[in-house]
Amino acid sequence: MRSLSAKINEQDVQQLAIEANLPDDKLLALVKSANYDTLLFSLADKIRRQYYSDKVYLRGLIEITNYCKNNCYYCGIRAANRNCIRYRLTKEEILACCKEGYSLGFRTFVMQGGEDPYFTDEIICDIVASIRERYPDCAITLSLGERSYESYKALYQAGANRYLLRHESAAEQHYNQLHPKELSYQKRIECLNALKEIGFQVGSGFMVGSPYQTAENLLADLRFLQKLSPDMIGIGPFVHHKDTPFANCPNGTAELTLRMIAILRLLFPYALLPSTTALGTIHPNGRELGLKAGANVVMPNLSPIAVRQKYELYDNKLYSGAESAQAIKELKEKIAASGYRAVSERGDVARKILR
Ligand code: SAM
Repeated sequence: MRSLSAKINEQDVQQLAIEANLPDDKLLALVKSANYDTLLFSLADKIRRQYYSDKVYLRGLIEITNYCKNNCYYCGIRAANRNCIRYRLTKEEILACCKEGYSLGFRTFVMQGGEDPYFTDEIICDIVASIRERYPDCAITLSLGERSYESYKALYQAGANRYLLRHESAAEQHYNQLHPKELSYQKRIECLNALKEIGFQVGSGFMVGSPYQTAENLLADLRFLQKLSPDMIGIGPFVHHKDTPFANCPNGTAELTLRMIAILRLLFPYALLPSTTALGTIHPNGRELGLKAGANVVMPNLSPIAVRQKYELYDNKLYSGAESAQAIKELKEKIAASGYRAVSERGDVARKILR
């Protein structure tokens, strides 16, 4: 095997764009180097236009609960955070968000939340079925953490199409540095495999610059994703939260996050890649730069305004301005100014290989 400190050159980056792959040593060198960022972004943009033209898909994000039984070391809504003011939305509130979202042009609703035992299969399936009945033309995405195979199956049968569950880190030791012992890497992988088997369009991903993360860990994340072959890949910088064990850890950088988005676009030309709120939080033009680096999804907040501030995963999380679904006109203008076009479509994955 070649040394993992191999050098990389422009030709290798071009090669990545053609073959959607590179050997380990080259990919690792690319993750570590800022020298090819401009080239990476322009190749990523070219590929995303081949697959998705200039379209940016909008997802209406509804943060249904900030109760969580877990204690992930990085997360502001962790169970042990006594300063977090807890809320959960009622079925009526969630349906009202969908109604507003539909009239604003959203054709995907993403229900996200902490792992809140209140949301039993019965309760959440009833909500999903009601949304499915009222909005047959919309995709329903769930992001509610780890549940049993039977639970995922019931949610799918009730009408959910997509599920987002980040793997967080594909290096087991690193995973264990981010999570308490009640959470295991194996369980996470089992959940992702179950979701795929059941038929969900699956999204996974990781934070960039999370505490203890190495470039080798990021390489492992890329290789893991290649095996999983998800439809959506969500990445964003780690941003510390004052009431967590990682309060004093440095944030991830926009520079590395953008490079990872571009690398993901080249490795996964077909994928739906969001330009995340976390990226917009650490950089004033983060969302637009994410799009230019190959992202093709944005997820404005559709939650009731009164609860938005309470879903505080990290310090200073954006929830107003163009992050807010109500400011969709402003958001569309910003997307257009970046050279793309926000569309009112479900935006399913473009699996067909065009090249
Ligand atoms: N409970 C569900 C789960 O774990 O998948 C969904 C909600 S969880 C809060 C959504 C994502 O937020 C996590 O996958 C994690 O990567 C991200 N997140 C949490 N805390 C963060 C932080 N401090 N900085 C950046 N992202 C964070």
